[in-house]
Amino acid sequence: NEKGESFSYSAEELMARGLNRWRGWHCTAGVENMYITHDGSIYGSVCREGGFIGNVFEVNFYNRMKYVKCTRRYCTCGTDMALRKFKRLKNRYQAYHITPVEVDEEPERDYVAVQNHYQNEIPPKQVLWDLGRRCNYACSYCPPATSNRYEAHKTLGSLTHAMTNIENSFLKGDVGKFIFGGGEPTMNPDFLDFVKDVHGRVPANSPKENHWIHVTTNGSRLPDYYLELIRYAGLTFSVHFEFYQKPKFLEVIGSLAQAKAKDPNLQWRYIGIRIMVPPGRGGEAQSLIDDLKALPHFDDQAVVNVSPLLEFSPNYEFDFESKMPTSYSAQELALFD
Ligand code: SF4
Ligand code: SF4
Repeated sequence: NEKGESFSYSAEELMARGLNRWRGWHCTAGVENMYITHDGSIYGSVCREGGFIGNVFEVNFYNRMKYVKCTRRYCTCGTDMALRKFKRLKNRYQAYHITPVEVDEEPERDYVAVQNHYQNEIPPKQVLWDLGRRCNYACSYCPPATSNRYEAHKTLGSLTHAMTNIENSFLKGDVGKFIFGGGEPTMNPDFLDFVKDVHGRVPANSPKENHWIHVTTNGSRLPDYYLELIRYAGLTFSVHFEFYQKPKFLEVIGSLAQAKAKDPNLQWRYIGIRIMVPPGRGGEAQSLIDDLKALPHFDDQAVVNVSPLLEFSPNYEFDFESKMPTSYSAQELALFD
């Protein structure tokens, strides 16, 4: 707020409290963040506010220099919510320059700026990049616009060319945080080489640092693949019950937790597991959590959380009066707390 007091929320808490509404605010989408779709189209954020910026495979695209004024009713994506934003131009100060004083009690709702809780530790520029749509799974709740089993993979040459364009037009010598996803990115036979290429590029303004890389994967590759990938990237595993194989998945996570515990170079690498829980499968989620927690070093080296699958799930029902998904049992809803 104007007094410099702050309070931290997770994206889920913001949504649950209806605080994810910033219509009329100035947002750094496009200035500090790029969202690249599977075909290379660039937007400032997942919400696409401010419209099309360019295509990452073209030599010249220009990132946005001005803040976008939000017109959306809700900000619904976790990465969008974490973008810096401020109510009036004069509140830019609170979003950038102030190190807020965290207060114990939630202040009156006179918020004037939003900043990422870790903003002093993370690179200021972020690229959320859907590298393609090809996936080896075909989850029933996954929209066809998000994944398919037939699309050709981008070549290493196309991806490194796009990366050079991002360096020239968006990063301009700065360190960037890259979040790779889109279909199942590890299905691309060139993905590991591309990750190594991004990691090996030297940001001119901070030559001793590397770009930050984070990958979202369904965990279907073998342990050796992930043991190599984690040397360059943090990993979020999405568990999809319709296709995953539990013993194989536990082997992957077990070997990563062991490697991370032994190797000091990996101590800051993130390992997260997000279990996607369709209605009626809460018991399976709990059993997987128990098995994960029984793996050596798991509790010290990895985190697990559960996500409900809402409107895309088969048989999903929602009670608009109480704003509660009625397809989940009380026990399942407790898992999401
Ligand atoms: S990212 Fe969120 S706050 Fe920013 S323009 Fe989009 S919906 Fe609005
Ligand atoms: S693993 Fe992810 S991208 Fe692939 S089909 Fe399932 S939800 Fe879609």
